[in-house]
Amino acid sequence: MLFKRDDTPAETFPVTKSDAEWRASLSPEAFRVLRQHGTERPGTSPLNAEKRPGTFACAGCGTALFDAAAKYESGTGWPSFFAPLEGAVAEKTDRSFFMTRTEVHCARCGGHLGHVFPDGPAPTGLRYCMNGVSLAFRPKDG
Ligand SMILES: [Zn+2]
Repeated sequence: MLFKRDDTPAETFPVTKSDAEWRASLSPEAFRVLRQHGTERPGTSPLNAEKRPGTFACAGCGTALFDAAAKYESGTGWPSFFAPLEGAVAEKTDRSFFMTRTEVHCARCGGHLGHVFPDGPAPTGLRYCMNGVSLAFRPKDG
């Protein structure tokens, strides 16, 4: 049985690929963030400025994760949302870097998306701080 570093049993996901398969289907930066829990440099994602209606999907498996209506300007330099689509993401306690944070990943492929913090706006009070490279924006048709 495999254990992650916080001693919770490894999750299983509907979409599973080997590292080699992910590496072949993702950009190097997306692979680093999604599959190796990396963090993109703040302010580098073109999705920071994305304000059209639409859906933000997982860059790994294409699952819709966030509605553009839940996006807001957090000033952090990362795309930020106050709520995910229902059931789209899963969370895990992350104790790396001497902090306790809540890690957020895609519920379908396990790809690392970012973290959620309790300092967001109404109505949830949550800030889903996402790596733009983990997301793919799909504008709403028409
Ligand atoms: Zn995914």
